[in-house]
Amino acid sequence: MKEFVDRLYRGESFESGELVEFITNIDEDTKNYLYNKACKKRDEIYGRVVFFRGLIEFTNYCKNDCIYCGIRRSNKNADRYRLDKKEILECCKYGYEAGFRTFVLQGGEDGCFTDEKMVDIVSSIKENYPNCAITLSIGEKSYECYKKLYQAGADRFLLRHETIDEKHYNKLHPNTMTLKSRIKCLRNLKEIGFQVGAGFMVGSPYQEVEYMVRDIMFIKEFTPHMVGLGPFIPHKDTPFKSYKAGDVDMTLIMLSIVRLVNPKVLLPATTALNSIHEKGRELGLLAGANVIMPNLSPKRVREKYTLYNNKNISGLEAAEYRDAIARDISNIDMKLVIDRGDHVSMC
Ligand code: SAM
Repeated sequence: MKEFVDRLYRGESFESGELVEFITNIDEDTKNYLYNKACKKRDEIYGRVVFFRGLIEFTNYCKNDCIYCGIRRSNKNADRYRLDKKEILECCKYGYEAGFRTFVLQGGEDGCFTDEKMVDIVSSIKENYPNCAITLSIGEKSYECYKKLYQAGADRFLLRHETIDEKHYNKLHPNTMTLKSRIKCLRNLKEIGFQVGAGFMVGSPYQEVEYMVRDIMFIKEFTPHMVGLGPFIPHKDTPFKSYKAGDVDMTLIMLSIVRLVNPKVLLPATTALNSIHEKGRELGLLAGANVIMPNLSPKRVREKYTLYNNKNISGLEAAEYRDAIARDISNIDMKLVIDRGDHVSMC
C-alpha cells in the first residue's frame, strides 16, 4: 500500500479502481505514511507555513434548499440576518489590523445582495485594502455577474461542487439545482481568471467510496486552485438530521490524497473538521492542509450562521484568535504568515 502512496507522491497516473481499493483497505501505518507524504509535498511547494483568511459570513438568507444545509430556505427556525456594507467594511478593518490579508465573503444566495450591491461592496473593500485578496463564496451566478465581480476586484471564488455523481447530487439538492449548472459555473469562473475553489463533503448521506474517488478524479482533471473539503455534519432542522457525521480519518485521508493529486492546491483545514474533533485544525494541517479561515463576523451573528450543529464557534477577537492559532501550530512546527497567500502559480 505504501508503494501506491509513493506513486501518488511521484505524480504517476493511476486507475480509479486502484484508489477505491486503497481507500477501502488502508491501515493505520499507511494512513500515517500518507499524511507524512502529503505534508512533505506541501512543504516542498509552499514551505511549512499556514495562510489565514478572515471569514465574513455576511448573510444567512438563502433562496436555495440544499437538503443538508442549516440555512436552507425551508428552515423556518433559522434566525436570519444580513450585514450591510458598513458592517462588512468594519469586519475588514478589524481583520486588517489583526494581520489578515484575505477576506472571504460567504453567504447564502440572498437576492437582497444584487449584482450591483456586490460589485459596490467588492470595489469598496479593494479601494480600502488594495493589498488584500477578496474571496467570494456566494453560490451560482451568471457569467456576466462573475465577470463584473472579477473586474470589481474579487480575486478568488469558492464553489464546492459537493459531489461529482449526478444521482448523488440530486439526492442532496432539490430539483431546481443541477450538477451541470454547478460545474458550468466552476468552468466560467476559471475562464474569467478567478482562483477557483471546488470541493465536497466527506460522509454526506448516500455517499459511496466510488463517488469520492470520482470527486478526486475531477479535482485531478480540473486542478482547482483551492479545495474546500470537510466532513458532513447533520443539522437538527434539516431532513438529514438523523444521519451521522462524516468520519475524521476519512476526511484526513481525502485531504492528503487531494494534496498529492493536485500538489499546488491551497487547502483549508475546515471549521467543520475542527467541529468534529477538538484538534481537527492541527490534524488537517498534519495531513497536508495549509489554510485556516478564522471567523471575522461580528460575535452576535456567529451562532446564526449555522450550516450544521455543534459548530466550533470561537468567542475570541481576531487578534487573540490569531495568537492562539499561532501557538497551536507552532507545536506542529508550522508558522502563520501575514500574506495574501495566493496560489503558487500566481506568485
Ligand atoms: N451559498 C454558497 C454556495 O452555495 O457555495 C456558500 C455557502 S454554503 C452554506 C458553503 C458550504 O457549506 C457548502 O458548499 C457545503 O459544502 C457546506 N455545508 C453546508 N451544510 C453543511 C453540513 N451540514 N455539513 C458540512 N458542510 C456543510
